[in-house]
Amino acid sequence: QVEHQVSDLDASKLKVNLSETLKEIPPPETLTFGQTMTDHMLISTFHPSTGWSDPEIKSYGPLSLDPASSCFQYSTNVFEGMKAYIGPDGKPRLFRPTLNMARMTRSAGRVALPPFDTDELLKLIKKLVQLESRWIPRTKGYSLYVRPTIIGSRATLSVGPSDHAILYVICSPTGPYFRTGHKPVSLLAVDEHVRSWPGGTGGYKLALNYAPTLMPQQLAAKLGYDQCLWLLGEDKRVTEVGAMNFFVVVKRDDGDLDVITPPLDGTILPGVTRDSTLALVAAHPSRTVLPNLPASTKLYAREHQLTMHELAELAQQDRLLEAFGVGTAAVVAGVGRIGFQGKDINLPPHESGLGPIGRALYDRIVDIQEGKFEWEGWS
Ligand code: PMP
Repeated sequence: QVEHQVSDLDASKLKVNLSETLKEIPPPETLTFGQTMTDHMLISTFHPSTGWSDPEIKSYGPLSLDPASSCFQYSTNVFEGMKAYIGPDGKPRLFRPTLNMARMTRSAGRVALPPFDTDELLKLIKKLVQLESRWIPRTKGYSLYVRPTIIGSRATLSVGPSDHAILYVICSPTGPYFRTGHKPVSLLAVDEHVRSWPGGTGGYKLALNYAPTLMPQQLAAKLGYDQCLWLLGEDKRVTEVGAMNFFVVVKRDDGDLDVITPPLDGTILPGVTRDSTLALVAAHPSRTVLPNLPASTKLYAREHQLTMHELAELAQQDRLLEAFGVGTAAVVAGVGRIGFQGKDINLPPHESGLGPIGRALYDRIVDIQEGKFEWEGWS
């Protein structure tokens, strides 16, 4: 009997096969999110008896898969979304990538895809980003979106864990989410269709969480709203907005400000931007980390469940000062109105589309991402 060595992902075994001809890079201002792919991709395949194959960087191109593959039939698909920026030193940098790696391995485990060494994957992603760094536009607000993905490639129609898998990473140059200044987004609060629920998979980054959001998103658009605000339960708890975490700024009885987001109870995706937002708010004002906010503005970072009823009441009392979504794509997206039960809750308008707290968070997070402000080794 032959004993097979089952290998983990190993960056030292990387094979690089560069494309013979490189693509022409389009002018940054013509980029549409996620449409343009770079020259190369990273790939490794998992086989149950040999483990992860030697990783390879090769030309970007189609995969060949058996039509019975687990990913097509039973949605064994996990992914991540992160960005690479060019720092003032001209070198590419990633923002808190270990959080993406940790989330990815948790997501893979949730759908019984094989584990992998997250440190090795991060080394490989750094290598790929370095090779593709000519694709990162040098203009402020532009970056390279990096999409690590694992799909189950077990080719059988019987329902079971996929013991074959393909891990790949593709990259796409991307511009700022809001090209012409921040425009507040409108939200339709949706309770008929539920994004996630207790014991479900909303806390993981699984492709299967996204397909059921597409039809409600179409309905919201038909009614003139930009995105869905996902509610949960009889008490209409607010969970997330579109594919972003949700925050509100509320004036307290003592005049200070609560910056509130729902707690990570398993129904909420633990966003990297969410975690960063909470940390920056908690650091202000003792370290005056948020620009253009007076140090005397007292902010309290709070993870607290909010219902639509509470939101409507706070708005009526003029205590709901700001609402915004946070995520890798937009960083911070201000909310202008929330449609609920046939009426709109209107947020106070702000000239730049973001209120003072949202603006300060946006500016500081982008500065950290682009290496213009050093903070806790995040970049
Ligand atoms: N919620 C959902 C459902 C998402 O898809 C995303 C994007 N990954 C986020 C929140 C924001 O997470 P992050 O800040 O890590 O991009």
